[in-house]
Amino acid sequence: MEIITHPHPTLSYKSKTIQRINSELRDIVAEMFELMYAAQGVGLAANQVNLPLRLFIVNTSADSEEGEQLVFINPVLSKGKGSEIEDEGCLSLPGVYGPVNRTRTIHVEAFGLQGNAISMDLDGLLARVVQHETDHLDGIMFLDRMNPLSLKTLQADLQEFELEFASRQQGGIIESNDVIYAKLTEWEAKFCTQHV
Ligand code: ZN
Repeated sequence: MEIITHPHPTLSYKSKTIQRINSELRDIVAEMFELMYAAQGVGLAANQVNLPLRLFIVNTSADSEEGEQLVFINPVLSKGKGSEIEDEGCLSLPGVYGPVNRTRTIHVEAFGLQGNAISMDLDGLLARVVQHETDHLDGIMFLDRMNPLSLKTLQADLQEFELEFASRQQGGIIESNDVIYAKLTEWEAKFCTQHV
């Protein structure tokens, strides 16, 4: 498992609702936390590790020894109030930062790793991270939320990521889009279908 970077197609893929929480999913989440802390991130969505599942993790301290480890499965956001512009970054775009307008508060309903219902009213950094990560699950990057003028200042950086991705895919280091999508479908069959 590794963190994929812009413009990997899974980052713009709309993740599917999780129907099954089992030990394999708990192992995936544990590995995601390791990757997130290693990269000193505060949030990581499943599709950033190439999994099409509606799940993300957060620890606003970016430190495994501090803060609170949160897991959000099938999150639904509502009742955002106010708005605030702050610079955001993303583990799928290391070194790139830009201003994004988000609602200041947000209400989130989700499930935890034990299948427990989560209902939280958030503000501050946590509210921003939860909005950023939920966007990931819908295939939306923070770039897609930036105004065109700010985005323009990042153009050279983004082009570097895009050239790097194209060359790694042509060189076979990254699989073809067809293979990537076929694997996403396999993951969906495993976690997102309802067995009777
Ligand atoms: Zn991100």
